[in-house]
Amino acid sequence: MNVIRTVGEMRAAVGTARSDRANIAFVPTMGALHEGHLSLVDAARQRASLVVMSVFVNPLQFGPGEDFDAYPRDESRDADLARDRGVELLFAPGLDEIHPPGRTTTVSVRGMVTSVLEGAIRPGHFDGVTTVLSSLFHIVEPHTAFFGQKDAQQLAVVCKMVHDLRFRLEVVACPTIRDADGLALSSRNAYLSDDERVSALSLNKALKEGAAVLRETDDVARAEEAMTRVLDVPGVVLEYAKGVDPDTFESPARKPVLLVVAARVGRARLLDNMLVS
Ligand code: AMP
Repeated sequence: MNVIRTVGEMRAAVGTARSDRANIAFVPTMGALHEGHLSLVDAARQRASLVVMSVFVNPLQFGPGEDFDAYPRDESRDADLARDRGVELLFAPGLDEIHPPGRTTTVSVRGMVTSVLEGAIRPGHFDGVTTVLSSLFHIVEPHTAFFGQKDAQQLAVVCKMVHDLRFRLEVVACPTIRDADGLALSSRNAYLSDDERVSALSLNKALKEGAAVLRETDDVARAEEAMTRVLDVPGVVLEYAKGVDPDTFESPARKPVLLVVAARVGRARLLDNMLVS
């Protein structure tokens, strides 16, 4: 595995691969790798002859007072995990390589998909995501890019950007990887104490309960109430429990409905979701 630090080296490496007719898959991450990230690499290897992963903690997608400084970083562990799983090119650029000093360009997807839920709670977050991804897509020029269903709203935003800007790549969505007890893997789970980890299980419990109510009644409001009830426990500060259209994040006219929850547990802000079709 080659670790690449600069845009120039990355362009040269993928340029050579392209002229050798490689099919290039891209897995963008912020590092602190876990099985969720590595499942994207597995999926990418099924589809491509060359897997590129980026590890870049993108300051643009963190708001003031969020955990940019505290975000877990361990580059040598990430490099070992990526290499063992079959990543060929690991792109770990410095800040200035991706965001040139004086940058004044932002890529912004408008509409419900960026204005509700995460978009409302984290103003500017999705602009940060789409701006960095459009830079990374231009640098890596992959045929496919792999994203986790775990961050369902981010996935919907990326699909919209790729569609609207006619990026020449296919977005591939991959299922959420969970611990045996149902907790969705997240780099931010590292912030949880043992007790908080137990409280965090209520996110997945709430989704299961909401899905059962929705299947039985076809009533999104009742599913939302059921999820809210399950999340009303000590140690969990609910941010939202909603049912939305999985593509637009508008109120769902019919199934499939995506149930989405977000809550704070201790220092960690956790997200989870479940598609009910
Ligand atoms: P992050 O490093 O948090 O920006 O995540 C990088 C990619 O990994 C995103 O596409 C996430 O949706 C995906 N991802 C994170 N956690 C999981 C998980 N538990 N299962 C599957 N994909 C995940």
